[in-house]
Amino acid sequence: MIGEFSVRTRSRNDAVDITSEVQNIVSRSGVSEGICVIYVPHTTAGVTINEGADPAVMQDVLESLEKLVPWRAGYKHLEGNSAAHIKASLVGSSVQIIIDNGKLSLGTWQRVFFCEFDGPRTRRVKVMVS
Ligand code: ZN
Repeated sequence: MIGEFSVRTRSRNDAVDITSEVQNIVSRSGVSEGICVIYVPHTTAGVTINEGADPAVMQDVLESLEKLVPWRAGYKHLEGNSAAHIKASLVGSSVQIIIDNGKLSLGTWQRVFFCEFDGPRTRRVKVMVS
């Protein structure tokens, strides 16, 4: 089963917790034991799993990526958003999560985050459950 939903991001760099949306698709699929692939079909955004208990963690991740890959650094790409493309490659376009007893097998502190690097925009997330 393939599901899809949209995410509205709020700033150039943003991390949006999409765990509930993904779990909803898993629940609707009826799959009890399987795999869930979460895929972001964008070149300037990504998806990652990290701590959701303290929102400062993802702020630190975004700020550290900003230091590693500054917005302006003599890039060649004419659109002017190379930093966002580079961050998207660093973070990656998909994650996989084991489904156990109909639930995403996330650790106690883990959440799934949509990572925006060239927002604010409305983005799409695709989810495959099998
Ligand atoms: Zn571009």
